[in-house]
Amino acid sequence: MHHPFINLANPGLANLIPYQPGKPIDELHRELGLDNIIKLASNENPLGPSQHAIAAAQEAVNTSKLYPDGSGYALKQRLSEALSITSDRITLGNGSDNILKLVTQAFLRPNEEVVLSEYGFSTFSIITRAHNGIPVFAKAKQWGHDLSAMLALINNKTRLIFIANPNNPTGTWVNHEDLQNFLSEVPEQIIVVIDEAYMEYVDQPEYPNSIALQEHYPNLISTRSFSKFHGLAGLRVGYGISHPEIADLLNRIRLPFNVNSCALAAAIAALDDEAHQQAVRAFNLEGMQMMRKAYTDLAIDFIPSVTNFLTIDCKQPADAVYLALLKQGIIVRPLLPYAMPNHLRISIGFPEDNAALMNALPKVL
Ligand SMILES: *Cc1c(COP(=O)(O)O)cnc(C)c1O
Repeated sequence: MHHPFINLANPGLANLIPYQPGKPIDELHRELGLDNIIKLASNENPLGPSQHAIAAAQEAVNTSKLYPDGSGYALKQRLSEALSITSDRITLGNGSDNILKLVTQAFLRPNEEVVLSEYGFSTFSIITRAHNGIPVFAKAKQWGHDLSAMLALINNKTRLIFIANPNNPTGTWVNHEDLQNFLSEVPEQIIVVIDEAYMEYVDQPEYPNSIALQEHYPNLISTRSFSKFHGLAGLRVGYGISHPEIADLLNRIRLPFNVNSCALAAAIAALDDEAHQQAVRAFNLEGMQMMRKAYTDLAIDFIPSVTNFLTIDCKQPADAVYLALLKQGIIVRPLLPYAMPNHLRISIGFPEDNAALMNALPKVL
């Protein structure tokens, strides 16, 4: 009998439940032998990446005997032009969740507290626990972040605050004024991370300009992703924008080649392809309108969302609905890990996939 390894592990791992991703299509195929499976479970972009991004990634494979540029010079340069910031404020990550982890690793000491929102993105609490920190949850307001409730949880053990804007899995968002008021109350030695993985989908004049806010609040870090809007989820690339001193600290613990050559090349090409970006925006808007109308017609309640997904209220345990949809070859996302047992999160898909869902839902509800 070997020694239980849990006793050797960091204490934070004892009660850690790993992130539960959306069910992969291949897995459902293996389990139920179904073909023509529709996945609306991971907020992926149905249109996928720009053709230029695919071509750039394919081209980069040819040089894969060489290590990638560990400094990510070209992508940082491209981002700094697009965002009108100096490149020393940018940290590249293996997905934006890599940046979330680097920030936690850099700033959180064991038994210090991280303020989060109920129904906030679950990766925040997982990373906090993994670093032996203590997640503290503020009650949500209409499923979204209640910034006053979050402020009230700050004490001298608080080190970090995470806000997803828009939030996954609720699609809710905080506006510029509320965020600014919040930041003006947060002690400057506490790092605030604003996760903007869906920002490209937001079409709201009051959506915060977090880069501008960093001028006044250098303790603010923004994270962004190429996985959602840019359709590059499989290549894993995202970035953080921060004060240069923070970027320097993150760079000290970043693994040297955390973003691969294909991802670096594809991300630049994705930024260059404005026509594709316009197409994705229009496609999502149309799908969102179609789904809102369809849910309304079926009298299914949903949480208003500014993203590429809608979270619906089944008014009954949603796990059964989820399983019934799986049998019909439709994968959506149950939200039990978020303590939202009656809700399902459903991404905007191709019109025919949305229609198939709308055909199946009334039968299984
Ligand atoms: C999908 C998602 C991420 C992760 O993005 P990656 O760049 O793929 O790591 C981060 N935050 C939120 C809120 C997300 O929904």
